[in-house]
Amino acid sequence: MALPQDRFSAFTSLPRGSLFPEPSFQRLMQSLPVGIQVWDAQGEHLWSNAAALRLLDLTPKMLRERRLQDRLWNWVNEAGQPMAPHRFPVFEALTTGRPVPRTVLGLYRPREWHRVWLMVDVDPHLDEQGEVTHVVCTYTDITPQRLAEAQLRHSEERYALAVNGARDGIWDWDLLTDRLYLSDQWHLLLGYSPGSLGEEPSAWFDHIHPQDGPRVRQQLLDHLAGHQPTFESEHRLRHCQGNYRWVLVRGLAVRDTDGQVYRMAGSQTDITERKHAEAELWLAATHDALTGLANRYLFLDRLGRALESARQDPTGQFGVLLLDLDRFKVINDSLGHLVGDELLMRLAQRLRAQLDPDYLLARLGGDEFAVLVPTVARPAGLCQVAEQLQQVLSAAFCVGSDSYEVYTTASIGIVVGGTAYDRPQDVLRDADVALHQAKGQGKARYALFDGEMRAKAVRQLKLENALRQAIERQELCLHYQPVVNLQTGQLQGFEALARWQHPELGWVSPSEFITLAEETGQIIPLGQWVLRTACQQLKQWQQQWPTQAQSLSVSVNLSAYQFAQTALVTWIDRVLEEVDLPPAHLQLEITESTLGSYTEAETTLAALKSLGLKLCIDDFGTGHSSLSRLHSFPIDHLKIDRAFVGRMDREGNGRDIIDTILSLAQRLKLAVIAEGIETPTQLDLLQGLGCQAGQGFFLAPPLAPPQATTLVAAGRCPALSTEKDAIPTP
Ligand code: C2E
Ligand code: MG
Ligand code: MG
Repeated sequence: MALPQDRFSAFTSLPRGSLFPEPSFQRLMQSLPVGIQVWDAQGEHLWSNAAALRLLDLTPKMLRERRLQDRLWNWVNEAGQPMAPHRFPVFEALTTGRPVPRTVLGLYRPREWHRVWLMVDVDPHLDEQGEVTHVVCTYTDITPQRLAEAQLRHSEERYALAVNGARDGIWDWDLLTDRLYLSDQWHLLLGYSPGSLGEEPSAWFDHIHPQDGPRVRQQLLDHLAGHQPTFESEHRLRHCQGNYRWVLVRGLAVRDTDGQVYRMAGSQTDITERKHAEAELWLAATHDALTGLANRYLFLDRLGRALESARQDPTGQFGVLLLDLDRFKVINDSLGHLVGDELLMRLAQRLRAQLDPDYLLARLGGDEFAVLVPTVARPAGLCQVAEQLQQVLSAAFCVGSDSYEVYTTASIGIVVGGTAYDRPQDVLRDADVALHQAKGQGKARYALFDGEMRAKAVRQLKLENALRQAIERQELCLHYQPVVNLQTGQLQGFEALARWQHPELGWVSPSEFITLAEETGQIIPLGQWVLRTACQQLKQWQQQWPTQAQSLSVSVNLSAYQFAQTALVTWIDRVLEEVDLPPAHLQLEITESTLGSYTEAETTLAALKSLGLKLCIDDFGTGHSSLSRLHSFPIDHLKIDRAFVGRMDREGNGRDIIDTILSLAQRLKLAVIAEGIETPTQLDLLQGLGCQAGQGFFLAPPLAPPQATTLVAAGRCPALSTEKDAIPTP
């Protein structure tokens, strides 16, 4: 760097000849990067080399005017504090006669707006008497080192601040010495006092939850081997009090130029609160709030896992039991939802207590529960489980603050699952098919799913879809079974019975499609069609055969689902009006079980009765309805179920029941119709017992309209006539 011209001129004004007589030596002094100054014993400046002028940022003119004790020097000490001029080391050397080595001084250079740091060495020269003649002062520029030191100090401070100020713990693992530094906060997270855990890596690893250990180890190895760019692990660490805290540990390995890992460091965050919140959310999303059992979502998830394991081990099988309460709706409707809820809770507890802890018990919704049996050796084992569950449910439940004793039963569908299934939903679907089968067999049963059921289920699905269009496509028709006065042989009326001829499947039995229509709600349009068609048919007969058909009535069956419809009375009234049929010619058949399970039965019956039509209890004797309720129903007829008629024989079996029903009906002033008369013996016996009316294959099967019309014209039942006319079969 070239020096300003006046700095050179400074040397000419100094008595340098006496100090450095050698020109070559003087050149050397001038070219040194170290600043050199000479002061005399009185503190007068004698000489400075170029480096000194540059470092002190002085021109020779300024230097000439500058005294040693001048305030203009602007020195600061090593700590950055302003320094009085007499503290300048040259003073000390002059006064003590001893060298003052390595003083660090800062000097603010106003013209350059920055501070230089100088290492100042002062060396006094003495005469023979030991008096100081002059001092040589050297200045070495140490500004770069000072800056580097300051930066290092700053970054260390920043690091310390980060470590101490952060809520996270810090760890630093020297893999060469196998020492592990754990920060104070790391210790505090686990309740230890800072530094107390030592520097062994086991201080960390021994605290990891045994279940998490293998996973953390694998994650570490994956990162160290370079398979994962960072180490990130959520695991549990044992707190000093023995409980576990969840932590998120993040870390990064440092490699040397050969790619060898020599150090790994990172942070550790306490995530216990978050984990608890997550666990609570998970619990709410996967469990039923009422019973605390697993919900459908979790059940399907576990079922999916069971399918997965079955795929890995094709010999492995699992089992699913689907359980549905038989009378829950009745309990809910009669005792209220609170009691219903309480029953479900108690029931869940009972089931849980009965089941093996490995089995998953879930509430899928409403009164539907499911059990997943993880391994099944033989299907019979699952049937045993079903029997045990039915057994524990059979005891009474005390609900409503112990004010009610409720009995309930459950139907259970069972499936053995394995590789035959692709999706968990399919397993549940088949369990549902088996459950329906069990329900169909009567309550409190269980059924094991088999291939036949699947075929049946497929057929049902087909039927369900076909039934929707059956009415529009005119595949439905009505057959009419004569109801005959058993004493006179006179035709009393007909029971209208729905028939369905499917283009591919042929005749579908009403017990099959009516049940289906009830389950799918299609019974409403179907029932309306039946009622209208039957009324129109009778109206037509009355117009065609006014004499014979004058006193005939037509019976139409009402299913429970229809009976519970609030609009029922209105639309029956409308149909009667549209068809212009006097209401007394229409009879509605309602099964005993429908009446028994419906608390509003009296009200609905009264409303129907107010239309002026006739009411009949169908299948009487099978619904276990209380006889005491019978007198409160505004009914006209009892239809004795064909099961009782079928039991009657010459030996006198089964007569008593019929006799009892007949006398009961007499007392209640109800007319009786016996159903299912199949033999002349049964007819004889019924006639002997004084039963007024009946129907059955022996008298006439359900007839297609043309045959029924013939019978209307005849006015009598050929089976009871002396001529015994042949009745055409449909
Ligand atoms: P249900 O009301 O008890 O009808 C009498 C059933 O007994 C009819 O069966 C009839 O064909 C049959 N049956 C008549 N005589 C004899 C006999 O001597 N022996 C035997 N074993 N059976 C006899 P179907 O037509 O199969 O109807 C079955 C059930 O389907 C009916 O029982 C009724 O509950 C229901 N159903 C039929 N049509 C309708 C309808 O239009 N609406 C509603 N809601 N249900 C209907
Ligand atoms: Mg009937
Ligand atoms: Mg019946």
